[in-house]
Amino acid sequence: MKPVQTKTSEEVKKELRQYRYSKTIGFVPTMGYLHNGHLSLVEQCKKENDVTVVSIFVNPKQFGPGEDFNIYPRDMARDLKLLEELEVDIVFSPSLVEIYPAGYSTYVEVEKLGDVLCGNSRPGHFRGVATIVLKLFNIVEPTRAYFGQKDAQQAVVIKKMVNDLNLDVVIRIMPIVRDPDGLALSSRNAYLSREERAAALCMPGALQKVRAKILDGLRDVSVVKDMLQREMNKEPLINVDYLEVVSLDGLETLEEIDMHNTLVATAIWVGKTRLIDNFILGEI
Ligand code: AMP
Repeated sequence: MKPVQTKTSEEVKKELRQYRYSKTIGFVPTMGYLHNGHLSLVEQCKKENDVTVVSIFVNPKQFGPGEDFNIYPRDMARDLKLLEELEVDIVFSPSLVEIYPAGYSTYVEVEKLGDVLCGNSRPGHFRGVATIVLKLFNIVEPTRAYFGQKDAQQAVVIKKMVNDLNLDVVIRIMPIVRDPDGLALSSRNAYLSREERAAALCMPGALQKVRAKILDGLRDVSVVKDMLQREMNKEPLINVDYLEVVSLDGLETLEEIDMHNTLVATAIWVGKTRLIDNFILGEI
């Protein structure tokens, strides 16, 4: 069956009214151009909930000036087909003015957690993310919402927002889905030329190497960072944006690896494309 496609908050709320008090509602927010990473969230959501809602909205507020909002890949027809195959119940694909009507002026800021790592390279990014996620939660009122560990900082920021604002939703974080060669799936991989894609593999390769060393006993963060940097330096086509080793709960700089509370996060530029990847020790 085709998912019910809704485009306004009134439509999706109305559609959900029949389930509100008797069924669990699972929610997967996305920016579309779906790949198997997104679909793994949808599959998990289907397993754990009676009703599955997927949103598709490229959120301008989480893109900085000069970033790729205008060229971000979009293919609604293909996305709808994939969601139909997975038997998703409801798709919510609002327009820009539906979400941000003229004069829109309210934002959510998650202090500190939103300012480091990607927040440092992309000022305002997590303000945009937290704002859209809260708005979508208020529209859908899900029992559970599904996010990927691929965007580990996003997961930490959203969990903090949910906790700080007493939101009544369970946040579920799902593992990173990768191509067989190790590259984490991302809608932005569509930007890469063949050479760039091959070069991008140095990021998962570097993470894999240091992860093995850590599992072997390496604990000194400065050594971990040196190793990552050296691995990245081997690939002339990439530029490191950041490589950081931080606590998973507070995203604070570590000197020693904590096997139960560490995020090793990297961001690189491959030509004009910015890609992120990470691994965690512990649970978000
Ligand atoms: P996006 O459309 O990029 O905003 O992503 C929507 C959701 O899919 C976010 O929660 C992402 O973390 C998640 N996601 C994106 N890529 C992957 C991946 N390779 N594996 C698992 N989840 C992913």
